[in-house]
Amino acid sequence: MSVKVRFPPSPTGWCHVGTARMAVLNYLFARKHGGTIVFRSEDTDKERSSREYEADIIEQLRWLGLSWDSFQRTSELVAHHTHALTTLIETDKAYLSCEESKREPGTFVEVVRLRNPGKAVTFTDLIRGDITFDTAELGDFAIARAIDDPLYHLAVVVDDAAEGITHVIRGEDHISNTPRQILIQEALGYERPQYAHYPLHLGADKSKLSKRTGDVAVRSYREKGFLPDALINYIAHLGWTPPSGKELMSLDEMVEEFELTELHKSGAVFDLEKLRWYNREYLLRETEASFAAYVLPLLKSAIELRGLPWDDAVGGKLVPTLRERMSVASDLAEMIGAGEYDFFFADPAPDAAHIPEKKSNPADARTHLAYARTALEGLTTFTPETVKDTLWTYAAEHGRGAVLWPLRYALTGQQRSPDPFVVASIIGKTATLRRIDHALSLIARL
Ligand code: GLU
Repeated sequence: MSVKVRFPPSPTGWCHVGTARMAVLNYLFARKHGGTIVFRSEDTDKERSSREYEADIIEQLRWLGLSWDSFQRTSELVAHHTHALTTLIETDKAYLSCEESKREPGTFVEVVRLRNPGKAVTFTDLIRGDITFDTAELGDFAIARAIDDPLYHLAVVVDDAAEGITHVIRGEDHISNTPRQILIQEALGYERPQYAHYPLHLGADKSKLSKRTGDVAVRSYREKGFLPDALINYIAHLGWTPPSGKELMSLDEMVEEFELTELHKSGAVFDLEKLRWYNREYLLRETEASFAAYVLPLLKSAIELRGLPWDDAVGGKLVPTLRERMSVASDLAEMIGAGEYDFFFADPAPDAAHIPEKKSNPADARTHLAYARTALEGLTTFTPETVKDTLWTYAAEHGRGAVLWPLRYALTGQQRSPDPFVVASIIGKTATLRRIDHALSLIARL
């Protein structure tokens, strides 16, 4: 038997993490078994479906690295649905019922209802084992709003059968739909696919995730700068632990290890911190050069957004710090946006009162800054180590705080910042001497 699965999103909202999880689980299963995948845009709900959402789902799933073998749209398969409905009516398995329209009260429509045999239906779920439903209470449920307007249950059964779908892998919110769908399959004489209903994942607050909540849209993670490898990897690990226990894996490696029956039986909680960890790990895997190529344009545009002049040399020297401090691109935008890096690109405006260290005084600050100026003027190579070597003995002798605070504050204009050796090495000799001179002029008469 060759495996065939489907990605059947309803295009009624942006591609969300739940859609991606449905797709990745189907993908891993299909590829593991050398099977195929049909992407079906289930646009039976005409009012809520849109091509814009459909395009978004396709775009984000592709961006995540997923692929499929064919594409279809439920609304374009209506002829098959009508044919199935006609067959059901002709064989008396279903009937037309003239009823008042729910959408337009006062008008009457010919709804199609399945003649429900009202028996117990049992199916074997690959994740949850045998599940039995008494279908009597469902009554003669509707399967179409009109002969050419199928409802989801009818359409999904006809489309799955026409495609020869062997495995229906979907969230457990669909368990209660399964008995209805099985009754329709049986009425049409179709073979039953195998079912696997996996537990849904929960929001960080353990609430059910909603596809209408903007922050679970894949596009919003993408806009924050999450890398597709990190996101798909994290999503695949929601509710699945590969036997190797590995965390960072390519899709191919996951395919190797995937087993549907190993999905956890209880819902995983979506943990943004863990997703950030994945992203950071992927960033750390980049070579120095490729990380720089990734981060420098982001840094440049964030700096320019603050109206500050860009400087290639300074930017290049900031790369290691950025690598240490960020998990995802939006962290960088936040740090820059908060002004934390302004002093690297423009001279700060220090406040004279804060130049001397709290326990020191303006006269000592003048002496120490003047010493630092002379010492650094004679230094040709500015690295954190050379700057430190130049000043360390003096600072140890005259009090590290008293010496290094005024220098650090003169360079950054901030009460908290990296140490003055790092800052001086990044901004370079000219800016360092200019900023020391400015601070000296501010405290000249204090
Ligand atoms: N279109 C349905 C949904 O988005 C999926 C139907 C199914 O998997 O059978 O939830």
